[in-house]
Amino acid sequence: SVRVRFAPSPTGFVHIGSLRTALYNYLYAKKNGGKYILRVEDTDQNRYVEGAIENMLGAMSWAKVEHDEGVVISEDGHLVQRGDFGPYIQSERLSIYKEYIEKLIEKRHAYYCFCSKERIDQVREEQKSQGLTQRYDGFCRSLSKEEVQAKIGNGESYVVRLKLPENKDIAFDDVIRGNVVVNTSDMDDQVLIKSDGFPTYHFAVVVDDHLMGITHVIRGEEWLISTPKHVYTFEAFGWEAPKYAHLPNILNSDKKKLSKRQGDVAVEDFMQKGYLPEALVNYIALLGWSPEDNQEIFSLEELEQKFSLDRVSKAGGVFDINKLNWVNSHYIKEKPLEKITDLSIPYLVKSGYVKEEEIESKYDWIKDIVSVLRVNLNNLSEISEKVDLFFNAEFQLEDAEAVQVLEDEQVPQLISVFINKIEKLDIIDEDSVKSLLKEIQKETGLKGPKLFKPIRVAVTGKAHGPDLPLVMKILGKQNILSRINYVLN
Ligand code: GLU
Repeated sequence: SVRVRFAPSPTGFVHIGSLRTALYNYLYAKKNGGKYILRVEDTDQNRYVEGAIENMLGAMSWAKVEHDEGVVISEDGHLVQRGDFGPYIQSERLSIYKEYIEKLIEKRHAYYCFCSKERIDQVREEQKSQGLTQRYDGFCRSLSKEEVQAKIGNGESYVVRLKLPENKDIAFDDVIRGNVVVNTSDMDDQVLIKSDGFPTYHFAVVVDDHLMGITHVIRGEEWLISTPKHVYTFEAFGWEAPKYAHLPNILNSDKKKLSKRQGDVAVEDFMQKGYLPEALVNYIALLGWSPEDNQEIFSLEELEQKFSLDRVSKAGGVFDINKLNWVNSHYIKEKPLEKITDLSIPYLVKSGYVKEEEIESKYDWIKDIVSVLRVNLNNLSEISEKVDLFFNAEFQLEDAEAVQVLEDEQVPQLISVFINKIEKLDIIDEDSVKSLLKEIQKETGLKGPKLFKPIRVAVTGKAHGPDLPLVMKILGKQNILSRINYVLN
């Protein structure tokens, strides 16, 4: 049965490309009734970042891309491992790599290399000047067992390298890219064990994918060039290689690989700006994969049913913030109001409009505010820019249209009728305001924009905005009256 894995190296933030890789693995497992594993690849000790694993797991569970096996955070906040194929953290598997490298050396598919960095650099320089492919020249390939033993005995530092056969085609069939063939004469004797005793990614990945029973490796296109090495290592062990599927890059609008320099690329950035996990997942699912029809809005459950690797394209997907905003605003409108309110409150607190201790007593009022504003939000953090409508009573008439609306000769009479009626109104809610507006329409003969716009401008300072009766309900009588007074004087 299908077993797939997401194998991040926790080096800090989570790129949305990583979330997409995780998502596609998750979806593929779900679709095929398989298991999805999360393995931490932390053998590069120089790149270790404190808290990065927790951060990455937090992003995954926020997105609800949950794995069946691997590293998880327990309820009391510790890293624990779940599943029968552990440990799932590579730095805890060092004795396993040691055992397997010995097997490979034994079979003469790997060898000790004592070359100094200086020698290797020199070889590369020479190759470069002769226009040759830069690769290790195999100097240590033919050392005898005794020579090796003596050098190790002398305390010489060494690495272990893969011994590639000469002039052999290494081929594999990538699910997305088709048949890939590379000749070993264009490949390097890859270092498998580094001088610090740690395995390289290339070795650990093969051993782990084998021991963890991985059937499909779904990962980013940047690993495509390494895959022949992996395929050959499987062969050298006498193991069957998994199937490979290399996902296209996520590109920016100039068709370059999306990178941190061009703005938000981290899942954390989108979390902080108030993108909903449903929206981000929905959007990135479509960055590389497309459904058979033109459907654009997908729940995770629907994606689980519809996803397939056959419909993943070779071409990179262009990251389009406008499209993401469109998807996000869809979910902001669709989700239960309470949920959106709860998620919006932190932004209102942060921008100082609401105090922490007022949240409970003002909850229903805040909920009304969210219900009017949410129809125009690309993300929840934008609520802080739109909410001043309800807080700032001493506003200026900024746009020309608002000024012009008030210049109409019927405005003074309209406003005085409005003031009169609103003063007499006991309860200001959507219904009472609607019938009040109807009465004014009858009395003044004004209707449509001639009626609504001057009132809107007088109350909010703007010619356009959210539903007027709701706005008035939120403002309340005193606010409405004092605002009109302020604007007209
Ligand atoms: N640790 C690698 C990374 O950080 C995983 C590559 C793979 O999936 O084989 O992307």
